[in-house]
Amino acid sequence: LVYQPMIDLLTGEVHGAEALLRWHHPTRGEVRPDEFIPVAERSGLIKEIGQWVLHEAMREAVRWQVGGERYVSVNVSAVQLRDETFVAQVEFALRDTGLDPARVLLEVTETVLVDEIEAATTSLSALRDLGVRIGIDDFGTGYCSLSYLQKFPVDVVKIDREFVDEVDGDVKRSSLARMILQMTSSMGVTSVAEGIERPAQITALQLLGCDVGQGFLLSRPLERDVVRAKFGAAVPVGQP
Ligand code: C2E
Ligand code: MG
Ligand code: MG
Repeated sequence: LVYQPMIDLLTGEVHGAEALLRWHHPTRGEVRPDEFIPVAERSGLIKEIGQWVLHEAMREAVRWQVGGERYVSVNVSAVQLRDETFVAQVEFALRDTGLDPARVLLEVTETVLVDEIEAATTSLSALRDLGVRIGIDDFGTGYCSLSYLQKFPVDVVKIDREFVDEVDGDVKRSSLARMILQMTSSMGVTSVAEGIERPAQITALQLLGCDVGQGFLLSRPLERDVVRAKFGAAVPVGQP
C-alpha cells in the first residue's frame, strides 16, 4: 500500500491519506490496480485482498494517531460491500487495531450505489453505525442522480478527476464541478477534489468552496515510511 495525502484547500493541513494498492509483480514489474482489481473482483480474490488492505491501512493509521487527528481512507470494492460479512470485518479490524472509527473513511464508487441501491444503503448504514465515515468515490462518472445523495448515509463526496480537470476552464466546462460543490456544501457533506495537477485548479476550487484536495501537484502517493515520518508520530507503545 502507498498513501496519498488529502489536504485542506484552505489551510494546507494534511487531513489524512488514501491507501492505494500496488502490486510489484516479479516479471511484469508494477501492475496498476486498474488492471488487477477487476480481475480480483471476478475471481473473488478481492475479498481476501480487501480484508488485508483494510487491516493493513488501519494498522498503519494507528501510528499516525500520535501525530495528530488524521484519517485513513480505504477503497472498498462492490464485491466487498455485497459480502454479508463485510461489516463484521470492519468491526473486527477496528477492534484488533484499536483505531478510532472516526479516523476511517471508506470509499465506495458511485456506480455501486446506482446499481445496488437497496443493498448498499443497508450496509452503508450499518458501517456508519460503527462510527466510520462513508465517501462516494469518482463522483460524477456513474450517472448518480443527485437525489440519491440525500438517500445515502454519506459524509464525503470525492469529485472525479474528469471534472476537477475542467474546474479552471470557462463557465460551461467548470459547471459540473460547481454544481456538485454547491450541493455538497448545502448538504453539509465534505467535498474532496481528486487529481489536482495545476495551481489554477486549486485557486478555482478554493473559490468554489471545495474542502479537501488530492493530486500529484499536492503530493504523489507516498511509501509507508515516508508518511510515518511526515505524520510525525513516534511509534506508539505496544506496536510492533
Ligand atoms: P481512486 O480510488 O479514484 O484513486 C485515485 C487514483 O488517481 C489513484 O490511482 C491515484 O494514484 C491517482 N491520482 C492521484 N492524483 C492524481 C493526479 O493528480 N493525476 C492523475 N492522473 N492521477 C492521480 P491508482 O493508485 O492507480 O488507483 C486506481 C484505482 O484503483 C483507484 O481509483 C481505486 O478505484 C482502485 N484501487 C486502488 N487501491 C485499491 C484498494 O485497495 N482496493 C480497491 N477495491 N480498489 C483500489
Ligand atoms: Mg479512491
Ligand atoms: Mg477516485
